[in-house]
This record gives sequence, C-alpha cells and structure tokens, in this order.
Amino acid sequence: MEQLLKPDSIVMGMLGKQNVGEKDYRPLTYVLSAEEANKKLYYNLLTHEIISIDLYELESSEIRKYLIENWYLVPEEQDDQQLVDECRAVLTLMDSGPKKIHVFYIFTTLDCNARCFYCFEKRMPGSNMTMETASQVIEYIKEQADGEPVKIVWFGGEPLFNYPIIDFISDGIREKGLQYEAILISNGLLFDSDLIGKAKNLWNVKTVQITLDGTRKVYKRVKAYVTDVGDPFERVMQNIKSLLKAEIRVKIRLNIGLYNCSDMRGLVDYLCEEFKNQENLNVYVNPLFELIEYTVNEREYMYDLQDEMVSKLNQVFGRNQKKEFPDTIANGSCMASGREAVSILPDGKVGICPNITNDGLLGDIYTKKVDDKVQEEFGRRFYWEDKCRNCPIYPDCYITNGCPNKDSVEGCDPIKIQRQIKQIQEKMKMRCRKIVIGD
Ligand code: SF4
Ligand code: SF4
Repeated sequence: MEQLLKPDSIVMGMLGKQNVGEKDYRPLTYVLSAEEANKKLYYNLLTHEIISIDLYELESSEIRKYLIENWYLVPEEQDDQQLVDECRAVLTLMDSGPKKIHVFYIFTTLDCNARCFYCFEKRMPGSNMTMETASQVIEYIKEQADGEPVKIVWFGGEPLFNYPIIDFISDGIREKGLQYEAILISNGLLFDSDLIGKAKNLWNVKTVQITLDGTRKVYKRVKAYVTDVGDPFERVMQNIKSLLKAEIRVKIRLNIGLYNCSDMRGLVDYLCEEFKNQENLNVYVNPLFELIEYTVNEREYMYDLQDEMVSKLNQVFGRNQKKEFPDTIANGSCMASGREAVSILPDGKVGICPNITNDGLLGDIYTKKVDDKVQEEFGRRFYWEDKCRNCPIYPDCYITNGCPNKDSVEGCDPIKIQRQIKQIQEKMKMRCRKIVIGD
C-alpha cells in the first residue's frame, strides 16, 4: 500500500483513528475509487487522503485494518453526513475569530451601456454614486481596513459609466495612506487610452475582467449596446490588447448557453490565435445559470462543449490551474461565506454578495454596523434535503444559503456530478502515475 496524498491533519486530529471492532463495515459514502496499473486507488473526501493498494493485497487483514482505522470503511449504522458536518462545524469554529473587512466591491453605478438579456441586475438609470457618498466610502474603507492593505473591486452596472467616482475614491484611499490594489469588472467597451492610463497609474488596477458572448455578430446581438459603436467586438478586442500592452492582466469570461453555443468554438479559436503569446491573459468558461433547465441531451452537449473549450484554452493559455485536490472539507465558497469582503452599493448600503443589490444587506457605510445575524444566515451551508446526504462529493461542496444562484447550481445536476467524479478519478490516476515515475 502507498500513500499518494497525506490526510488533513486537522480533520484526522478531530476524528482520531477509528477502532476496529467485530461489526459489519461498508465503504464511507465519500470515498471515490479508481484503478490504475494493477492498483486500486482510494480517495477519502472526509480526510482527503489518497492511497493506492496493489490488487493482490486488497483482501489482507492488514489492509482492512488500515481502511477501518482511517475511515474508508465505517460501521453500517454510521451517519456519514453527520460525520462531515461535525468536522465542518469544528473548522467553522476555528475560523470564527474577528476578521477585518479588506475587500470592497464598489458599485459606482447600477446603470449600464449594455442590455444583456441574462443580466441579474435591474438596470437603474440615474443610480450613480454621488461624490458625497464616495467621501463616506473612503472613510468607511479606512475604518474597516484599520491600516491593512485593501483590495477594491470596481463593479456595477458598468463601473466605467461613472469613472469620476473611481478617480475620487482611488485618490482618497491613497491620501489616507492605505495600500491598495484594484480589479475592474467591465464589458470593456468604454476604455480608451486615457482611461487605460488612469487604470494603470491612478486606480492601481491589476486585473480587468471582461465577459464575451460570441464572435462579432453574436456578441453585438447579445450585448445590445445602447450606443451605436459600429463594431463593438472589434473595439473590445482592441481594448483588451491595449490593456495587455499597459501590463494590466485581463481575465476573459466566456458565457455559454444555448443562445450562443454554436458560435463558441469559433470564439475560442479566434482568442487562441489572436492572443496566443499573451502571458497576462486568462480565459475561463462560465455556463449560464439557466443550464439546469435544459434537457438531458442539451446539458450533455453543453458540458461536452465546455470541456472541449477548457481543454483547448488550457493548451494555449494553460495557467491558473486550480489546486489538484483540496486540503480539507469545504468550509465556505465565496465572499458571502467569509467575513472579509463586502459590497458597497451606489447609495452606501453594504451587502454581502455582489450579485444581490436588494437583499442580503448587512447595513450601510454611515452606521458602520454589520448585521451579524443576516451575515450568518446568508453564509451558512445550504442542503438539498434529497440530494446532499448521498452525494459523493458532499465534503468538498459548500453552497451558501443566501446564494441567488443556488437553485440552479450546475454541480447539483446528477449529470454534472458524475462528470466531476470522473474528473477526480482521472486526477487520482494521474497522481498515481506521477508518483510511480517519481515526479
Ligand atoms: S453537489 Fe449539490 S447535491 Fe452534491 S453535495 Fe453539493 S449541493 Fe449537495
Ligand atoms: S452568494 Fe452566490 S452569487 Fe453571491 S458571491 Fe457567493 S457564489 Fe457568488
């Protein structure tokens, strides 16, 4: 037997070794297995240990003892979900000390120059943040950061629609002597050399995230910009190039759904050709949330397409890979389950999730109070009563209770879960091969 990945010492410390008794045992629900070169591989998602066992050893009493002691086999009557929940509760407790807010999603406006049909936000003309509110935002950030470096995420609407606020707050934060850097989430159309210069030198923007929905024609149709700019796709491409030239990192998000799937291979090919040598570019694929409403065949098709796109993009831009295996049981998934980030709306209300502008509000920048109860209720783990208990990836999955997208989380689609399991099994085999060749 060989250990391919060490277990999480904290979880093992909580669980201890399981006693071996004269009982009937069964595999833990959260153990995945695979076979590779006459070995059986086991990945325990409770402890995050991976082991390989030669097939001829499988029936030995020594191996059985190891599998019981290390929670691969559990008594028939064991409540597996409860075991994970207890460990998760301790991890939550360990992480429950005071935290400073140091990430601020600032909505300069809820207005936008595009009209994407899938947009979750109620576009609100005239919803720009005012200079008075912006002055209070600076005070709020200074107080919350308490001298620590901060990260600003410029958000909207289209944040560039109200860029004087970005000038003002960036100046203000700097004058307060705070270290900061920024990310800007934009459709990319409004950039020009002036704004790129500001982004680089005044706003300290390190990354701009831009969403694309297709090549020229499809992009123009989906974005439906309110101003006539002729060829918006071309303009955005030029802006991406200028941002990269200014050494600002660009993250391109490719939305996919039935509305654009026939065009996406073309877009990936185009990006791979046009930007193949760009170190500072990252492209990722984002299925739209309505995917869960598609038929089985449509979903299969979309997941295949997504895999194909990701594989091609990885070959060309192959960076920013996620960690191969998580270190421990998931105890949060996004800013809404942590306590270190907030969103600030144009009117000074403080929220917990940037994708919600009318709910999950914690307070405002004026009173500076955070409603702990709302925060706790919003951030706790959500359970699908019928699905989660027996879902093999349950320990690695955390859905935030207040998440506006939880009803359509694609991971809960049984087809998607099976695909995820297959991908994990492939990674287990790869890990085994690497260890065999001593990598
Ligand atoms: S993927 Fe869905 S069903 Fe599985 S544990 Fe997560 S929330 Fe539950
Ligand atoms: S709650 Fe949902 S939508 Fe909001 S930040 Fe978290 S994952 Fe994103």
